[in-house]
Parts: sequence; structure tokens; C-alpha cells
Amino acid sequence: MPTEPTYVIVGASLAGAKAAETLREEGFSGGIVLLGEETERPYERPPLSKGYLLGKEEKSAAYVHDEGWYAQNEVDLRLGTSVTGLDPGARQVSLSDGFTVGYDRLLLTTGAVPRRLSAPGGDLASVLYLRWMADSERLGAALRGSGTVVIVGAGWIGLEVAAAAREFGCAVTVVEPEPGPLYRHLGPELGSVFTNLHTEHGVTFRFEESVTELRGSGGTVREAVTSAGAVLPADLVVVGIGAVPATSLASAAGLDVGNGVIVDAGLHSSAPDVFAAGDVANSYHPLLGRHVRVEHWANALNGGPAVARSMLGRGVSYDPVPYFFSDQYDLGMETAGLPEPGSYDEVVYRGDRDAREFIAFWLHGGAVVAGMNVNVWDVTDDIQALIRSKRPVNLARLADPDTPLTDV
Ligand SMILES: Cc1cc2nc3c(=O)[nH]c(=O)nc-3n(C[C@H](O)[C@H](O)[C@H](O)COP(=O)(O)OP(=O)(O)OC[C@H]3O[C@@H](n4cnc5c(N)ncnc54)[C@H](O)[C@@H]3O)c2cc1C
Repeated sequence: MPTEPTYVIVGASLAGAKAAETLREEGFSGGIVLLGEETERPYERPPLSKGYLLGKEEKSAAYVHDEGWYAQNEVDLRLGTSVTGLDPGARQVSLSDGFTVGYDRLLLTTGAVPRRLSAPGGDLASVLYLRWMADSERLGAALRGSGTVVIVGAGWIGLEVAAAAREFGCAVTVVEPEPGPLYRHLGPELGSVFTNLHTEHGVTFRFEESVTELRGSGGTVREAVTSAGAVLPADLVVVGIGAVPATSLASAAGLDVGNGVIVDAGLHSSAPDVFAAGDVANSYHPLLGRHVRVEHWANALNGGPAVARSMLGRGVSYDPVPYFFSDQYDLGMETAGLPEPGSYDEVVYRGDRDAREFIAFWLHGGAVVAGMNVNVWDVTDDIQALIRSKRPVNLARLADPDTPLTDV
């Protein structure tokens, strides 16, 4: 009698938990084993730098499912379990507890880990990173007791932590080697919106400088030294210099890896019956015509269900317009597309940029390739439709707030 297949998911976070949910919703009745090295059940990370960090949101709001959901849906969730090896030939993974688990299909949702600061003194106490729930709890406690905070990196994490630190009343300096914040995410044009926002809230920026050394006393950080020779007092240093995909299992198993696990539009890797989704996947994106690795919440939320359907042989071509959101002070924004430097040739604004109530459109060859709405809501679907259409638009109509975006 044929036995039911077993699908194993490595990485019990948003992408992995949503994949398990979709497998059951789509009627998969075989075994699902969800393996996670963290001791928390799957949760979402955005609150860790926003409401949960600030003490305004309950921990329970961050979890992907209720505690009982996994047992009710016969998902064998094993927490505190690190997968230490993958053998695609034998179709099994080995675990930190010495056991092995065989699979018929395997999903890698191992995510990403913070890039480490390599400067001397980087291992001092009070040099913190932010990825896991425990990091957010440690950081929140530290911010409550700190006078002076140095943040390394003016990316999304750095800026959201800067906003939180100001809410806690800390003095905040952000050190960033690029000429402005969010440079590699948004290009140079939009940076000043965020520089002005944070400066008005009392944050000091040091652009075109990097942190070269951290000095401490009694094992705790006291000063950050920059490449310009500045010596900045610091009770706390928060490092937000990007994340690297967690590919060690995949590379050791001989899968194609390069800035993530390389997968096709169906999120299938170079190894038979091995798939990847979320932050760790570098997937071929049919709409963009190239491989992309998207480190955003929506990509885990939507990639989990997409890869589950692909594992079930449903013929998936995963091509959502990349989507990201952020909240800092009273600024809320959504970005659609990937407005990286080099991907566009002009930027057009609709609305009041100085009042921080506008939409920015990045264009290439007259067509919209990305858009960011700042304190303007219910427009992201229309922006995404414009990006998807790839059609040239009328710039005057694009800039005119009275013209519907469906009509530019
Ligand atoms: C503080 C913070 C704030 C963010 N805010 C936003 C935001 O505002 N907007 C937005 O769009 N995005 C945001 N993001 C990004 C978003 O959270 C990520 O894109 C998302 O978490 C990716 O989910 P994932 O499931 O792919 O991977 P991850 O969340 O990284 O989860 C991977 C899981 O796999 C586990 N794992 C790894 N290796 C193994 C192994 N060998 N064995 C077992 N388990 C393993 C890890 O421990 C982890 O639990 C934020 C990220 C952070 C860190």
C-alpha cells in the first residue's frame, strides 16, 4: 500500500508557516514537518522594530498562528531544532538532536541573518543586532536605559531603530558610508525626505563615514570611532548593515547558490524536489526578467503559499511586484517595485513632498518601474498595476493628483 508523502520545511518563520498553511488548505494530507531553530513558534518580524519594540504591541500579535493551530492541522512543528545537514541523494535532513528526517519534498525557508560589523570592538556588550524576537526585547530594555545611541547603517532597520530610540528619549547618531539614507534601496533622490524627517526629530547623521572601531571599558561599549576620526560617545550601539541569506545548508549540499538559493519561477532549486522561498530565495522573476532576492515581509507572506502550490505540482509562476512598507514617527510608506540606483532614469512626484504627503514614481524609458506612497493610502494596487503594465505614461498626468492613476 503506498504511504503518504512527507514534506519537510526547514525554517519555522513567516514563509515556512504560510507554506504549511497552504499545503493543508490545498488538501495535502501527507506529513508536514516544520523545523525551526528558534524556540518561539513562527512570528512576523516587522513589529520587532516598531510596535513590539516600543512596547505598544503585544507579543501575541506577532505570531503567524495560534499556539494550537499546528497540532490541529497535523503540522509537526519542532522548535529549538537546527537542521545541520541536507542530503538530496538520500532525501533526508539531519538535525541538531542527532536524528534524521526523510522527505519526499523539501522546502528551505531559512531566511537571512544580520551582516556582522567587522570593526575591532564589535563583540563588546551593548553592541546589538535586530533580527529575532529576543533581540527586540533586549534592545527595547537597553533603549529604556540608554542616554546615547550610535546606529551603524541608515537602512530600514537603522532608521526604524532611530525613530524608536528618539521615542525613548535617547540621543541618536546614525553613521552611514553612503551620501544619504536608504541609498541602495531608493537611490539618491528620496533620501532627503528621510534625512529631514529624522533631523526634525533630533537625530544626527554622519554620512560618508563608517564605524571603524568600538571602544569600551569593563567589556561594555563606550565610544564609536568613525573613518573621519570622530569619537562618538555611546551607551549602546545598534548595527543595521544588512542581512545575508542563510544558505550554508544549501551550499554544503551542492545546490546552486549565489546571493541566496537559486530557484526558478516555480521556486524550485537545482536539486530534485528541493524548493526555497522567502528571504533566502533568489528566484527568477518573469515580470522583471531576472533573478531577484527580495528581503521583504510580503515576499515571505506570498512566497510561502506560492511555493506550497508549486510543491503540489500546481504550475506556479511567482512574479508579484516587490512590496515593502515602513513606519517611522508619523510617516507611513509603501514601496512597490525595486527602485535601486541604475534601474531608472527619472523620478516624478505627485503631491506635496515637503509636507511628506506624496507619491514618488521611478521611471525607465517613460514607464513606471517603482513607486512609493508616503502618507497617501489605497494607491499601491494602482501603482503595482502601472509597473506591471510596463507601458509609457504621460508625465504631466502622472504628476497631477487629480488624475486617477488608472488614467495616466
Ligand atoms: C526587525 C525587522 C523588521 C522588519 N520590518 C519589515 C517591514 O517593516 N516591512 C517589510 O516588508 N519587511 C520587514 N522586515 C523583513 C521581513 O521580516 C523578512 O523579509 C521576513 O521575516 C522573511 O521571512 P522568512 O520566513 O523568509 O525568513 P526569516 O524570517 O529570516 O525566518 C527564517 C527562519 O529559519 C530559521 N532557520 C535558519 N536556518 C535554520 C536551520 N538550519 N535549521 C532550522 N531553522 C533554521 C531561522 O532561525 C528563522 O526562524 C523586517 C525584518 C526585521 C528583522
